[in-house]
Amino acid sequence: MPFSSPFPNLDIPKCNLLEYLFPAGQTPSNTPIWIDAKDPDHYLTPRTLLQWAKRLALGLDRLGSKPGEVVMIHTPNHIFVPVAYLGTVGSKRVFSGANPAYTVSEMVHQISNTQAQVILAHPSLAKTTLAAARQAGLPEGRVFLFSDTPNEIVEGCRDWRDILASPSEADAYNFPRLSEREAQTTTATVNYSSGTTGLPKGVEVSHHNLVANLDQTIYMRYLRKPWKAHNRPREVWIGFLPLYHAYGQLYTIAMAQKLQVPVYIMKQFQYEEFLRVIQTHKVTHLQIAPPIMVMLSKRPETANYDLSSVTDILCGAAPLSKELQNEISKKLNCEILQGWGMTEVTCGAIHVPGGVSDDSGSVGQLDPNCECMLLDDDGKEVEPGQPGELYVRGPQVCLGYWRNEAATKDSISPDGWLKTGDVAVVKNGWFWIVDRKKELIKVNALQVAPAELEAVLLEFDPVADAAAVGITLDGQEWPRAYVTLKDEFKGKVTEEHIHAHMKVKVAKHKQLVGGVVFVDEVPKLQSGKIMRKVIKDWAKRDAEAM
Ligand code: AMP
Repeated sequence: MPFSSPFPNLDIPKCNLLEYLFPAGQTPSNTPIWIDAKDPDHYLTPRTLLQWAKRLALGLDRLGSKPGEVVMIHTPNHIFVPVAYLGTVGSKRVFSGANPAYTVSEMVHQISNTQAQVILAHPSLAKTTLAAARQAGLPEGRVFLFSDTPNEIVEGCRDWRDILASPSEADAYNFPRLSEREAQTTTATVNYSSGTTGLPKGVEVSHHNLVANLDQTIYMRYLRKPWKAHNRPREVWIGFLPLYHAYGQLYTIAMAQKLQVPVYIMKQFQYEEFLRVIQTHKVTHLQIAPPIMVMLSKRPETANYDLSSVTDILCGAAPLSKELQNEISKKLNCEILQGWGMTEVTCGAIHVPGGVSDDSGSVGQLDPNCECMLLDDDGKEVEPGQPGELYVRGPQVCLGYWRNEAATKDSISPDGWLKTGDVAVVKNGWFWIVDRKKELIKVNALQVAPAELEAVLLEFDPVADAAAVGITLDGQEWPRAYVTLKDEFKGKVTEEHIHAHMKVKVAKHKQLVGGVVFVDEVPKLQSGKIMRKVIKDWAKRDAEAM
């Protein structure tokens, strides 16, 4: 029997995300919400953001960009990213964010795969964006400079401000309404994830997915608090989570607006700057991932800052041990709430409810309107208390993979069950993630797909075969490769040659920091599939010996 959320079903609106965030008849406030952490006089309010978003939507219309087309951003975080997100999504276009660390070839993949027609690129990255856009066959003039500070010049790019409609035109514009059905079927965002297997794929998230996940997450966060979401002490957030990822988009852009919480946006994560922003602006709530918990524990700078304003921390995106959770909870005298999610569930599906102190390392309870099953290798439900692969069904489960029916079919059953690739245990309605069955490697909470690393390794002529896997060293996961060289290169090509090849091909978090090992053969099944379990065992054995 599938397991249902213990919480009552929420009545979730089915509408344009913009209508949910900016309800008709309510004048948007003029208090700063998206604030530049470096220069707090530089900010956007809901009113100014809405006007910018409408100007962009109209500007895209004039450019000939159609509903359903992808607008991509390639930029570090800044206060205008929420404008690009909401202007794109609100006007029925599709928002896709690329990691600013991407190399040209990674950008080519995302541009070609999304068939993006417009790219907003930060001046610091525009060279890479332009090179990739050319290789991907995007017509000239479709890459626009997208900075929070005007007047930067890069040859071959116009500024995004040049295409905006005027403020008065924006004032007369309304984002299109969506019928209930359209809200459920219109794609709002395409973020990238490799799912349980293969290469990174675009995850199609609808307007209703986003609205549902916002309602569910807000419900869980304030469930056991003496106050409720609409009537609570003043909160202040810090926005360093990347805005090309679902986690950053849901909190820093959408939830900050829904809850009207000021958020200090950091361009880049730098630990001491993060501590300074918390201290200076008295940040109350953090959304983080385990690598930052490690820094809070280990980095000596932590002691130099007053972090007493922090009342609670949400930690998700990768495994967090209960020891580290409890250490930081004590050190900062705050509540630590774990949550489990993945790009394919919009952002989250399991949360520790706010106001509950948990010291067991649980990722929490199932969000309202959600069901799950834990299945064994034969697809049968496991006995109570036993580990099994987590399957989730609910209104936040994505529509599927962008223009990839086969991958969608492999991951989501016709009756809506999403295969997560994570192994969980459930006891009394509380969940613990105990293993990962899928091919994914998580580095600093970012996804690395073994299949992608293998494909890039095979592009290197001396490589005959390769298998990539995550290796856990000192509690952190790193990519490691087992490589077979062609006979004529054996003894001549070294680990350094492999690293040099990878350096130009993939972003920093995908580098083979866990090492390269030359092997005679990569173990494979008769079908040609890599025997992942054997490779994982090799990595475990090697980690123990290191
Ligand atoms: P992403 O799509 O990048 O958000 O990655 C999703 C994956 O991150 C999940 O399928 C899990 O493998 C992992 N993950 C997310 N949250 C947690 C958590 N709280 N504990 C353990 N793993 C997690």
